[in-house]
Amino acid sequence: MDQGGSLRANGSVHADPFGEQAFTFECDAGPIGGLMSKWQQQRAEKKRRALARLRKGLPDVFPSNVLSRALARPFVPPTPRLAIDSYWRAHPLRADRLARALAARSGQPDGWTWQLRKGQDGMQTTFRVPPAPYREKAFARGGGFCCVCGQSVYQFGWHIDLWGRGPNKRATWHCACVIAWQFWNAPSEQAPLLRRLQARRCCETGGRLWKDAEVDHRVPLYRVWSEYRDTPWPDLLNYWGLPNLQVINRDAHMLKSADEARDRSTKRSLTARDSAVSA
Ligand SMILES: [Zn+2]
Repeated sequence: MDQGGSLRANGSVHADPFGEQAFTFECDAGPIGGLMSKWQQQRAEKKRRALARLRKGLPDVFPSNVLSRALARPFVPPTPRLAIDSYWRAHPLRADRLARALAARSGQPDGWTWQLRKGQDGMQTTFRVPPAPYREKAFARGGGFCCVCGQSVYQFGWHIDLWGRGPNKRATWHCACVIAWQFWNAPSEQAPLLRRLQARRCCETGGRLWKDAEVDHRVPLYRVWSEYRDTPWPDLLNYWGLPNLQVINRDAHMLKSADEARDRSTKRSLTARDSAVSA
């Protein structure tokens, strides 16, 4: 996984990522105190301070892709932790993929089945929320383990121990898993990204996506609960992740939802009839 790459901040990969150039980038507009406006000076000063703070807190080894992104931001994240947060926030699809890959390493805990209960012991109350065995009290692994994927959490919420310090006992989330969790629970927030991924074509009709297009689960979540509930975890998570998401035009979505509502209604009637017969 490319997220595991690292760099010595003062090493040879980037000769000096905090070099003079990083501090004087704003000077292109003219000499300070001359052409540069007060606003530009304040902004440059803010960036200089953030860079200095980041440099101070940065360990010798740090993921190079995260550092490169942080240094290129107009507002530099002032701490390594914020740099990592900012990286995953910018890459929710990578976070989704990574969280599912990490969950696959953990596998389904023995004795766990996907059940819904009224908010007891960390259990989900609705099938709309992705199943998360390691968030349930009975299967939680405790401090130093991620409650989403079940794997160890290291410094700065990273998923690989680049620093040889072992798991961070106070952490219970990977930074990537926070973003994946948000994505699984509110995929519509990433509609612009998903639209781009589909080259702005509607997955239902093949036509152009309109402005009011909506994010949809290909296999609706009620069917995941009613028909695929026994799928081993973490394969279940694929129904919340990118493999089951699509952007479709609003009218196509309404037709699909109407079909699904009919399907649910038929299933309810059949279940009611079967119950009446067996009674
Ligand atoms: Zn995790």
